[in-house]
Amino acid sequence: MAKVTVLGQGAMGSRMAISLLQAGHQVTVWNRSANKTLTAAQAGARVADTPYSAVPAAEFVISMLRDDAAAKQVWLAENGALSGMAPNAIAIESSTLTVATVKELAQQFQQRGISFLDAPVAGTRPQAEAAQLIYFVGGEITALERAKPILQAMGSTVHYVGAIGNGMVVKLAVNSLFALQVSAVGELINLMHQSGLDKAQAVEVISATPVCSPAAAMAAKAIVARNFAPLFPIKLVEKDLNYALDSFAISNREISLIAATQRNYAHAVKQGHEADNITGIAQLFESTVA
Ligand code: NAP
Repeated sequence: MAKVTVLGQGAMGSRMAISLLQAGHQVTVWNRSANKTLTAAQAGARVADTPYSAVPAAEFVISMLRDDAAAKQVWLAENGALSGMAPNAIAIESSTLTVATVKELAQQFQQRGISFLDAPVAGTRPQAEAAQLIYFVGGEITALERAKPILQAMGSTVHYVGAIGNGMVVKLAVNSLFALQVSAVGELINLMHQSGLDKAQAVEVISATPVCSPAAAMAAKAIVARNFAPLFPIKLVEKDLNYALDSFAISNREISLIAATQRNYAHAVKQGHEADNITGIAQLFESTVA
């Protein structure tokens, strides 16, 4: 069994730490707000005071933090994790970041001779809880071979996608595709309803056609039930779409579907829906017909 540190005990990191403990690993956790380490501590994790003190004994260090700024701070700042890591340890970046930040982090690790993988995930809180996350991994294949049993304690599938940064490219593409579909479904449900159809029946019919993806069908069902309880909150969706726009260097935002979708989620944030689940985007379209 391995010694694993998880930096970040938010909605995803806390569930990932529990999966690692359940798989028998020796887990240390750190979180900026100390109260969020309680669940992992009660399940048997050691709690560290700083990222630096969380990592010296670790063979694997996982970061699951909000954004670029958080990841840079936690890895690179004074008392950050990088300076405390053992030379043969592997850093695993699982937060959703920009490709530029991942490459910048990778360079810092390379200078210290420590292996680094970008390993973001698809799947939200229930998948994290059931150890069913899907990993997209970039970096050295030899590092991935060593880290695979750790990732498999939290996920059902590990896709190797090549060089550093490629994991994030795929992750941002997957999230863009998902956000775009949920937004489209939210608009269409409201348009069908305003045309006089029963929402539930219309969704049942559309979901049974080959044009509807399983993810869109699930989102449509939640929208009809007005289930907007946070799993993948709109504020993170909007962040990820911004990161996709940056990372893919999309210049013509007038014709970009990702840019249009980002504007929708940004609008939802402005309207106060930032803590709602991604399905809450449907609320934007509830009164859009003249
Ligand atoms: P979350 O519940 O909001 O947790 C965010 C974590 O980041 C918390 O531990 C928070 O610490 C920490 N953090 C934020 N700013 C920080 C800073 N400046 N310095 C140090 N720590 C900081 O988010 P989550 O849902 O766990 O998501 C974590 C990452 O996974 C994000 O990159 C997200 O895009 C990605 N992701 C999320 C989902 C999902 O469905 N939720 C799915 C796949 C991937 P505090 O507790 O102190 O605020």
